[in-house]
Amino acid sequence: SRTIVIAGAGQAGAQTALSLRQEGFDGRIVLLGAEEALPYQRPPLSKAFLSGQVDESGIALRAANIFLDQRIELLLGRRVTAINRGNRTIATERDGSFGYDHLVLALGVTNRALTVPGATLQGVRYLRTLDEARALRESLPSLRNIVVIGAGFIGLEFAAVARKAGIAVHVVEAAPRPMARAVSEPVSAFYEGLHRAHGVELTLNACVTRFVPDALGEKVAAVELADGRQLPADLVLAGIGVLPNTELAERAGLAVRNGILVNEFLVTSDPDISAVGDCVQFPTRFDKDTVRLESVQNAVDQARCIAARLQGKAAPYVAVPWFWSDQYDAKLQIAGLTARRTRTVVKGDPAAGSFSVFSFEGDAFLGVESVNRPSDHMAARKILAKGTGLTPGQLDAPEFDIKAFAA
Ligand code: FAD
Repeated sequence: SRTIVIAGAGQAGAQTALSLRQEGFDGRIVLLGAEEALPYQRPPLSKAFLSGQVDESGIALRAANIFLDQRIELLLGRRVTAINRGNRTIATERDGSFGYDHLVLALGVTNRALTVPGATLQGVRYLRTLDEARALRESLPSLRNIVVIGAGFIGLEFAAVARKAGIAVHVVEAAPRPMARAVSEPVSAFYEGLHRAHGVELTLNACVTRFVPDALGEKVAAVELADGRQLPADLVLAGIGVLPNTELAERAGLAVRNGILVNEFLVTSDPDISAVGDCVQFPTRFDKDTVRLESVQNAVDQARCIAARLQGKAAPYVAVPWFWSDQYDAKLQIAGLTARRTRTVVKGDPAAGSFSVFSFEGDAFLGVESVNRPSDHMAARKILAKGTGLTPGQLDAPEFDIKAFAA
């Protein structure tokens, strides 16, 4: 019988293993993860887990016995160190090597690290793993001033939780608006207002020049900006983007370009190796270029696509991209890939905290960002899945009913 080895036991790796069994795969499955924790969900790390509303058992992807029952050999604390394509084996730090008939790379991403002077001082932190989230959660009650660097999803979700805990929060962002890479201007403006209304200080177009140490020279005490201002900080949270974990693939000679390159079936440049989740650069019908997406939807749907193919049901990966972010009482939901927008149509009322921004490239419908408007989000996903399109003119018609149109 065949052996499938999965490198990386996060959202995508664990889902691949579970979906393989659901698809009826009867061979050996080895799931290797660098972290010690049972596979877990990351989204709560900057939301309900950080704020203490759920604990570790609440974020596990599956209970330990499920992996046992499914005959998934889950080996934690095992970093994969090399891929040998010649004899189809992978090497690990601790257990030697494993042979594979098919290898799935589910390696995720690594946070980009700050490089300005003082970046290695104590108190300059990142948020990606359970260990980091646990440490942050434990330190929150003793903090007074937090500086968040980067107004992306993770930075802003962290800011919301910290602010709710009564801590003074200053968010520093290099771009002219928050979440600029991911959302349209009206959505950025709404979140800028929301954070300010909750008492967050937000400095845009800002450049961090160094971290100022405390008297002992060990801990961070302040963040210095290019304009000379020093923002007091007993903790700095950096959320300045990520780098895909491509190094194993690169060393094995696989094609890599801001992610491990795959075809529409999620196969790498080696037919015996697939790649899945955050680490993957893939072609999509939702963009002219290949893309790399960081979302639970993408990790789960790609895992299912790979599992089906490995069981003889090959189909291109065509799932509609969607994403969410929770900040205060605002739920942001995004359907589609909207970065190419040349025009937008706003429905609902930003001032009332419930609206959607429909994005178009010319007349071509790209997707929708919804704030507290779940019905628009669901309708948009259906429309994008069908590929029927939607025009700004249709949306503007007063009698237009998006739910009926999507049905
Ligand atoms: P990961 O879940 O990161 O798993 C990759 C795993 O591979 C890691 O456990 C890593 O340790 C392991 N690994 C790396 N190298 C090796 C190696 N050499 N050997 C063995 N193992 C290795 N998405 C949403 O859709 N909505 C959200 O609200 C949201 N919030 C988020 C909040 C935070 C704080 C973070 C960090 C992410 C959030 N995401 C959210 C993104 C989402 O969690 C990811 O898209 C998803 O986890 C991707 O799954 P993955 O398996 O590709 O990567």
